[in-house]
Amino acid sequence: MNNDLNKFFYPKSIAVIGASSKPGTLGYELLGNLIKFGYNGKLFPVNPKADAIHSIKSYKSLLEIKDEVDLVIIMLGKHLVLNAVDECKKKKVSAVIVITAGFKEVGDEGVTLEQDLIAKIRKYKMRLVGPNCMGIINTKSDVLMNGTFIKGTPVAGGIGFVSQSGALGASVLKIIEKYDIGFSQFLSIGNKADVSENDLIDYWKDNPDVNVITAYLESFSDSKQFLDVCKSVTKNKPVIAIKAAKTSAGMKAASSHTGALASADTVAETLFEQSGVIRVNTVDDMFNLAKAFDRAKLPLGKRVAVLTNAGGPAILTVDEAANCGLEIAELSKETQAKLREIVVPEASVQNPVDLLPPATAQVYGKATEIVLADKNVDAGILILGPPLMFDTVEITRYICDAANRNGKCAIVVVMSQDEIIAEVAKQMPVHPPLFNSAEKAAWAISEMYKYKQWKELPEGKVKKINVNTKGVRSIINKYKKGDCYLDFNDVYDILNHYKMPIIETRISKNVQQSIYDANKIGFPVVAKVFGRELVHKSDVGGVALNIQDEEDLINVESRIIAGLKEKEMDSKLEGFIIQPFAKIEEGVETILGAVKDSKAGHLLMFGLGGIFVEVFKDVKFKIAPLTDIDAKTIVHSIKSYEILKGVRGKKSVDLDFVEENIMKLSQLVTDFPEFIEIDLNPFVFSPSRSKSKILDARIRLVKK
Ligand code: ADP
Ligand code: MG
Repeated sequence: MNNDLNKFFYPKSIAVIGASSKPGTLGYELLGNLIKFGYNGKLFPVNPKADAIHSIKSYKSLLEIKDEVDLVIIMLGKHLVLNAVDECKKKKVSAVIVITAGFKEVGDEGVTLEQDLIAKIRKYKMRLVGPNCMGIINTKSDVLMNGTFIKGTPVAGGIGFVSQSGALGASVLKIIEKYDIGFSQFLSIGNKADVSENDLIDYWKDNPDVNVITAYLESFSDSKQFLDVCKSVTKNKPVIAIKAAKTSAGMKAASSHTGALASADTVAETLFEQSGVIRVNTVDDMFNLAKAFDRAKLPLGKRVAVLTNAGGPAILTVDEAANCGLEIAELSKETQAKLREIVVPEASVQNPVDLLPPATAQVYGKATEIVLADKNVDAGILILGPPLMFDTVEITRYICDAANRNGKCAIVVVMSQDEIIAEVAKQMPVHPPLFNSAEKAAWAISEMYKYKQWKELPEGKVKKINVNTKGVRSIINKYKKGDCYLDFNDVYDILNHYKMPIIETRISKNVQQSIYDANKIGFPVVAKVFGRELVHKSDVGGVALNIQDEEDLINVESRIIAGLKEKEMDSKLEGFIIQPFAKIEEGVETILGAVKDSKAGHLLMFGLGGIFVEVFKDVKFKIAPLTDIDAKTIVHSIKSYEILKGVRGKKSVDLDFVEENIMKLSQLVTDFPEFIEIDLNPFVFSPSRSKSKILDARIRLVKK
């Protein structure tokens, strides 16, 4: 990735092609914003018809400018854009933002125009932001660039924000004015013809001006790249994202259990989870959380203290904290004694500490100091209830002061009083995150704690085992081009080539041979229908378990054949699958599978198996190839993990073996992407690996 975006964010000079002297036009507003915000570099409006715009000299063309130009912002009619790009080339400009709309987003004609634009950009080795975007902001004091046509003034801070939607970018500026949220850099990427969210996130990884990255996305430019980029960035700084339009056409035609369990949103969800990106649902949540990350340290652990002057909000906060996986810190005797000395007698000095309404600024400040100093406290939520007779700004300042001095993770909540928040922020440039909702503060701390755990998680390695890829290749070679399920005997061989424990299986052509096979295996056995088109065997009454002897077997198979005849499916029967009857009770029935998404590649799935798979949907996905840490995480994150570990006196299954098999399947689909769906269901895991067996498996092959 050519990722030097410095010319965009730190330009020494900017030319605005299409700057206009007509108030109300975008060309007028954008140039006005650059001037108003106090841009530190040189500004060159370009307009063939104007001599001066906003009282600064205007140029007839880009080439008329004698100075070097670092960044060009183009706001012309769409048919003039390509010419302007040619001029940029002549002027040796390498960074271009096209604000103009009317490209890919309007369909056919626009698509072609955008392709022509990209072709030029590539040929000229330029970088392009847009088209159809709102521009760029850098609030750093030595840059002060507001190259957008948005109304309102951005506040400086440590948040980087990349937005795919222009309209959202505008409403965001309103939100941040209200909530004391500070941006360092903002980029609206529009149609993402060249510069994408991945470029930006990667660029901000090592940018010291950006402490936390936020993104509003409608689509992923390149899901694989998103995963790789974010995986490394999130170990460095938090990335918070909203992904709108939760749909993916990627896996529509899936017919396996794994495919059916992957919903339209699974790919996005998996991408976020696996890359450590924090996903939120609303713009409010995104910026509140970003503010918390920007202004507070990460919590040391999950024990929170709540300080308040109103009981109700404290109870809600404690509930929410517990809901989000936090613990309510137990304050030490010492802390409680110290608090007792300063509070009114009716106050509660246990967590949540309730100072009661009479608490003054001094008491609040002192109490904050005492509570945060407690070794049992990892983070604090300091709540100021609805307005009272005291000076709320003063109280808030005392709390903020104490929190600043302590330095631990703390969020100060001024309930439902945004004007107080704004005032405190103005008076105290350095302050802890100020929230207007205590529950949101609890949620934010829990997200910060989760992020800390993610950061501490080792990177993980994709571990490969020795397998017989040639064996698998020769099986694939037997099949014609097209889309089909593999024969069970081939599935059996493939799993053996990848050292996955498929249960001993014999395929018989007729009842006579079944008897022979069953005796070889040893009763009790299981008999199942065998046939390329009989993939869902139980559905056609084609599975018989616990067959005790030859007579039983003969009866069962003739019953199955009769059943198929009734459904006029007997012609599809090619034989019988004979297996030992496995005692499932000794292990846990799981499902391990894979399904291919057209964009993200293979998703691996693991979870609770058996007949209730699609009822409980207790499964998790990861994108292949999985690292050992991914495999561990997937096992730990299903609800039934407790069942795997053993409940009610049952021993834990061999969890290492579970993880190993997840990685083997990951290796299989990575080596053979033409396997578009795989179900290993049930995969019974037992305390001993020798007794852990795959009882059924399907592989769907698409051969081009
Ligand atoms: P299908 O999924 O095509 O209907 P399966 O082979 O998965 O058929 O069999 C259905 C169910 O029968 C399995 O989910 C499992 O509970 C049970 N079963 C299958 N094979 C065995 C076996 N060898 N030993 C014990 N139980 C089995
Ligand atoms: Mg099955």
